[in-house]
Amino acid sequence: MNIVGLPALVDTYENYIWILHDEKQAFVVDPGESIQVLEYLDKHGLELRAILITHQHADHTNGVNALVEAFPKAVVYGPSKSNLSTIQVKCKENDKVTLADDLKFKILDIPGHTKDHIAFYNDDILFCGDTLFTAGCGRILGGTAKQFSNSILKLRELPDNTGFYCAHEYTNTNLKFAQLVEPDNAELTKRIANSAIKYPAIHIGAQSTLGEEKLTNPFLRFDTPALKQRLIERGASDSAESLFNTLRTWKDEFDRAN
Ligand SMILES: [Zn+2]
Repeated sequence: MNIVGLPALVDTYENYIWILHDEKQAFVVDPGESIQVLEYLDKHGLELRAILITHQHADHTNGVNALVEAFPKAVVYGPSKSNLSTIQVKCKENDKVTLADDLKFKILDIPGHTKDHIAFYNDDILFCGDTLFTAGCGRILGGTAKQFSNSILKLRELPDNTGFYCAHEYTNTNLKFAQLVEPDNAELTKRIANSAIKYPAIHIGAQSTLGEEKLTNPFLRFDTPALKQRLIERGASDSAESLFNTLRTWKDEFDRAN
């Protein structure tokens, strides 16, 4: 299965719309727009078979109607907790989704960014929408810090070699914040030195691995000793919820200042 990230909403939200295809059939994740998706499908002679939605925000779903109009047989999968009427197959924790013989997903409920957020996961790949980003995580926009920290700890249990695909290209800013909060993380320093983002170019393959994220993404590391100590100095208590929330608040302040 080929996996490419098409830049979308480039001037505002810097999304990726992920397309999985085997040179005949295609599956699209979080289409916040449709024009570039339709162009790509046309150019490569692909038939859209399914649309996967991680959560109901418009920058992940505004392209759905136009895509279904162009490919009426495409099936729309999305969270059972979403209110979107375009979702045909409502998905929740542990559901299995079979898109092709060689493309199956397990659904993980990962609320926190929103209440309805799900991930599409199999042994090789993870589509986690706005929950985790490369070197960062989504904001709390409807869910709670407790939900979010639980979801992050759930994703942290997945294998290191999992290909990591998120819905936005915020790597550069996220790495700057990561360095601020974990200045002594040698793996992070290495990642920053090797990072070469070419957004808005089409992204081929995974953005990183879950293993790389575990070593360098502070939101997967809020309970490691040095970072935990910094968060406690900023008022966090010992709980995952409080540590996560303190780190998230710190990032919100950082984003406002930068
Ligand atoms: Zn979102």
